[in-house]
Amino acid sequence: MEIKTLQVGPIGTNCYLLCDTASARCAIIDPGGDAEAVAAAVKASGASPCAILLTHGHYDHTGAVAELSAQWPEAPVYLSRRDQSGDNAPPQLFPHIPGAKDYGEGACIAVGTLTVTVLATPGHSEGSVTLRCGDALFCGDTLFAASCGRTDFPGGSMVKMLDSLYRLGSLEGDFRVYPGHMEPSTLERERRTNPYLLQAMAQHGESV
Ligand SMILES: [Zn+2]
Repeated sequence: MEIKTLQVGPIGTNCYLLCDTASARCAIIDPGGDAEAVAAAVKASGASPCAILLTHGHYDHTGAVAELSAQWPEAPVYLSRRDQSGDNAPPQLFPHIPGAKDYGEGACIAVGTLTVTVLATPGHSEGSVTLRCGDALFCGDTLFAASCGRTDFPGGSMVKMLDSLYRLGSLEGDFRVYPGHMEPSTLERERRTNPYLLQAMAQHGESV
């Protein structure tokens, strides 16, 4: 498993290439912009995309989907239906992604020999998910290094965010944390120092 990080778009969204070196297949996670740069990184990786996985539907995570889909039509796009339409998904914030497949809690997506498991982690948006693969967590805008995503957008909820952070904090063992913005971290470091994660754990009566 190899993970390549690209910062894309005007507000520096992290796009990740999750590559299975054994099969030369990859998933593109949150291509928020700069389709050409993402495509160049895919080609440089030598792996062919088998899926485009979206942690949530905000435009800064989805901006390059259309161009990349046109280039690799065999790679389906996955996005929770909760971020695809409805009152909590206004189109200027949640642009329509034609052909996106719904996914959510418990879904498993194969990336070559790797398996990505979906954890529903609402709070930043209704349809926010965290993608788990091996010891890596792609948290989107749920868990950040030393922070968490905003909850004041349509569909956001601080109550749900704290439940989702609690859930991530309760995962057994350590994980590499790959957030939707800013630098990576580890779950152990966040359990010790992240004020929102500490609040979420304290609220559930856990000592950390
Ligand atoms: Zn967002």
